[in-house]
Amino acid sequence: MNTPSAPITQDVHTIPRKLPEGGKVNLVGLTREQLRDALIEAGTPEKQAKMRVGQIWQWVYHWGVRDFAQMTNLAKDYRALLDEKFEISVPEVVTKQVSMDGTRKYLLRIAGGHEVEVVYIPEENRGTLCISSQVGCTLTCSFCHTGTQKLVRNLTAGEIVGQVMVARDDLDEWPQQGAPKDETRLVSNVVLMGMGEPLYNFDNVRDAMKVVMDGEGISLSRRRITLSTSGIVPEIAKTAEEIGCLLAISFHATTDEVRDRLVPVNKKWNIETLLNTLRDYPRLSNSERITFEYVMLKDVNDSDADAKRLVKLIRGIPAKINLIPFNEWPGAPYQRSDWERIEAFADIIYKAGYASPIRTPRGEDIMAACGQLKSATERARKSKAQIASEAGL
Ligand code: SAH
Ligand code: SF4
Repeated sequence: MNTPSAPITQDVHTIPRKLPEGGKVNLVGLTREQLRDALIEAGTPEKQAKMRVGQIWQWVYHWGVRDFAQMTNLAKDYRALLDEKFEISVPEVVTKQVSMDGTRKYLLRIAGGHEVEVVYIPEENRGTLCISSQVGCTLTCSFCHTGTQKLVRNLTAGEIVGQVMVARDDLDEWPQQGAPKDETRLVSNVVLMGMGEPLYNFDNVRDAMKVVMDGEGISLSRRRITLSTSGIVPEIAKTAEEIGCLLAISFHATTDEVRDRLVPVNKKWNIETLLNTLRDYPRLSNSERITFEYVMLKDVNDSDADAKRLVKLIRGIPAKINLIPFNEWPGAPYQRSDWERIEAFADIIYKAGYASPIRTPRGEDIMAACGQLKSATERARKSKAQIASEAGL
């Protein structure tokens, strides 16, 4: 096997965030404390601030209102003041594609003209929204399309919450005033599995998830939010303590040699270091199980020996293993494992006592499956040869 040569982080161009023109502050994504401070600064008397936060919060996140004029329990002058200083804005939908299987992919435009993708996956009795935390990703996992995109910028908390709001808009999911409460939720789960490494944008991801989890608004329980990370060890305990959501780990290999090639951040925090950190997660976050994501790459990580090593490695960690058949993208240097191989692999894991669901690729016809996301207009693409050589192939 060749020596690994992929850099941990790619040679990216980080893009500064452009402030919106017009100088209005967007209220979307502010935590309750930040909203309170903003309202006081705009002239809200301190004594009223808490009540105003509650009222505005409910309009924005429970009813989905975007216009201050509709906030009928606020005095007219106060609504005018709010309108002068603030806005309630979400990313703009550039395109929406609907797959044969009902999966929807949105391309959203954010400040500065950059773009991110969001995927909605309807299932029976639930629906999962896959959101992005960065434009692109600074890491270089060799099987991931997003990792080849050179432009990277962290999303703001508002842009992260905004993705959830855009999906609710499109699905027409905001409650109707006066109508009976509808308990079925179209967006019932959120996964941070879109573009970007969420733990490299920790503060914004945390603040955004606090907004999404808040019981007076969108109100998704922390158990319905899953954050997927490539293994940014120093931020994992913080995720448990400050967000408390479920955790998924992009594990993908059972030896450091192979993981170094697939997930180069392994060179910084190797398998042993990562697993030691994970042993504490369920206790710290009160969550039951960690999901280990494992992409099935033909002849790379899919042998019986790999499956056996995997169950040995994670022994003692409450876990389930999510097998992801590799999704191809143009220039990808890998192939999907054969179906019989994936099933044999799953069987070994299952017999060792772990749930081992195989993730059905969804939305492949619109390039919406895991690892296929990449902003169409920002394809500063590397060549196949370059990707292969960086992956040590
Ligand atoms: N950056 C985070 C979250 C985004 S990726 C992370 O790496 O965890 C979501 C999942 O899709 C990860 O497990 C990732 O490794 C996997 N993935 C990336 N590219 C893929 C591909 N081409 N086929 C299948 N899964 C892929
Ligand atoms: Fe980034 Fe995740 Fe893709 Fe790796 S798999 S390059 S961490 S988005």
